[in-house]
Amino acid sequence: MIEIPVELGARRYPISIGHGLLGMLPHLLSRLADRPMVVVSSPRIWSLHGGRLEKPLRALGPLTRVLIPEGEQYKSRATLDLLHDAFLAAGLGRDGLVVAFGGGVVGDVTGYAAATYMRGIDWVQVPTTLLAMVDSSVGGKVGINHPKAKNLIGAFHQPRAVVADPLLLETLPSRERRSGAYEVLKCGILADRALFAALQKAPPGLEGWERMDLENAIASACRIKADVVERDEREDGLRRVLNLGHTLGHALEAATRYRRFTHGEAVGWGLIGAACIACSREMLSETSFEAIASAVDRLGPRPRLSDLKAEGLLQAVGRDKKARAGRVAFVLPTGIGRVSIRSDVAPAEIRRALRVMASREARLRPLAVRP
Ligand code: NAD
Repeated sequence: MIEIPVELGARRYPISIGHGLLGMLPHLLSRLADRPMVVVSSPRIWSLHGGRLEKPLRALGPLTRVLIPEGEQYKSRATLDLLHDAFLAAGLGRDGLVVAFGGGVVGDVTGYAAATYMRGIDWVQVPTTLLAMVDSSVGGKVGINHPKAKNLIGAFHQPRAVVADPLLLETLPSRERRSGAYEVLKCGILADRALFAALQKAPPGLEGWERMDLENAIASACRIKADVVERDEREDGLRRVLNLGHTLGHALEAATRYRRFTHGEAVGWGLIGAACIACSREMLSETSFEAIASAVDRLGPRPRLSDLKAEGLLQAVGRDKKARAGRVAFVLPTGIGRVSIRSDVAPAEIRRALRVMASREARLRPLAVRP
């Protein structure tokens, strides 16, 4: 087992990573035992893995199970209401414990329900997707979507523990697996040459990777995010480096109405775009650009983008919700393991990057639109 501490003073918590860790939950969560508990999941995840979670959790205390419908559209006010009602019906008081068992959608809405119930009660994350293990379960950002904007309503509410068991990933569809893998790669480009080198040799989508290699990669990504979060818990500045690949990635998602790309796939394209802009500015060598783009491509196919209009994408970049004073910040790699934030990227640079991205498409077996 690998343990990554997230050092946030009174809100510090451990991220435990290891194959088979679900069986060790009574030990890992012993300090949270003997209180009413609600576990939140989705029907699919529960049918696949609920049996492995329920017994160890019951050893900790009385348990109520709540299943919420699956999909981003259910990261909503209606689901929040449903969860608050369920917490109340289960008799959760201020000493109650909520366990989120699912991907980023279950984690975000459950965490927000825990943050807002009785002004905040304890919660634990047991992520079941690679993206949730390396990204959404680290850092305490929780929230729901507004009908007009993604993640508009939310809070910072750190969990008391995160337990990541990669055995759960064996049932994860390949596309979802790759989606998380692009975020892991982002961490390597951002701050970890060894992680980047490991991913350059990893099997596509990290499928069939040695257990230790997968655990180490998850741990490295968590360590990087934890390190950034420790220094900038509420995203006042430094935490923005985590947006590497996200400025163009978000634009691709928004311009295709979140239907074509998974988040990670869009970030994969965005990593190539950011590297391309950095390379054109001579902030990044051509060799490093090629290494980054090849590492992204190695993880597997992504949906095409060459049919998208540059104008639409530029407009979407301009609407980036992380823009400050009308300027969109781009996180640009300046080497493997180093980045720089720039707010002066011109539309012509973005257009050129989009052309380079489209030209790489021919090397991939592009995926059709998102099912
Ligand atoms: P998701 O939660 O929608 O899960 C993806 C799919 O995988 C779903 O169909 C789900 O049912 C299925 N699934 C989950 N675990 C499975 C398993 N073990 N086996 C088989 N199928 C399984 O998607 P996600 O990529 O995990 O999370 C995306 C969400 O995370 C978005 O809402 C995004 O906004 C959020 N997010 C939050 C943060 C944060 O800091 N809070 C960071 C990044 C992303």
